[in-house]
Amino acid sequence: FWIATALISFPMITVLLTLHTAQRLQEEIHAQARRDTLTDAYNRRAFTEFADKEWSRSKRHGSSFSILSVDIDHFKLFNDQYGHQTGDAALVAVSRSAQAALRANDIWCRYGGEEFVALLPDTSMDRALAVAERLRLAVERTTSSSPRGSLNVSVSIGVAERSPHHADLSEVLAISDAALYKAKAAGRNRVVAAGREE
Ligand code: GH3
Ligand code: MG
Ligand code: MG
Repeated sequence: FWIATALISFPMITVLLTLHTAQRLQEEIHAQARRDTLTDAYNRRAFTEFADKEWSRSKRHGSSFSILSVDIDHFKLFNDQYGHQTGDAALVAVSRSAQAALRANDIWCRYGGEEFVALLPDTSMDRALAVAERLRLAVERTTSSSPRGSLNVSVSIGVAERSPHHADLSEVLAISDAALYKAKAAGRNRVVAAGREE
């Protein structure tokens, strides 16, 4: 009897273990496909997924959310002066500090190059501005090390709140981007709220 039980159960256990491992591996691959390889922030694809969900949720519940468009100041110059590798290290340091300045439910994403986007669920403009300012300060205080000593960068931030008359997500993004552009034009290392530029 015991031999028969062993003969049946060993292959079964092996199959179950293999299935379990395969599932874990698949979950791992899925999680990694949503992350930027350099900074480990969410990538653009993951951001779009989160933002589409938040868009539907906010329409359903009449809640609001806000978007921060974040771009490193004079980063081309930084690369030219210190090299691309030091630039990469600065990107990682900026991303880490910025994410630490956000709250647990906020989504931090590398949107491309030296541009990041934060999605703040259930957040009105006033609270989003406070978060953006905290993020800006956190980056300003961050130093990344290089062969030539410790270095700093700053970020400019545009903030937009979703409003009922926005047609879709891209409209909110376009508005926060326009506010970011104004922050750049106004001298950089600052936060500008869409619709409150003056
Ligand atoms: P601004 O203040 O107007 O944003 O100036 P900027 O120089 O940051 O803007 P611009 O868009 O002209 O340059 C962005 C630079 O960011 C160019 C590129 O070399 C750098 N960059 C983008 N992605 C990466 C990256 O992955 N690693 C490094 N090291 N640099 C990057
Ligand atoms: Mg830039
Ligand atoms: Mg840029």
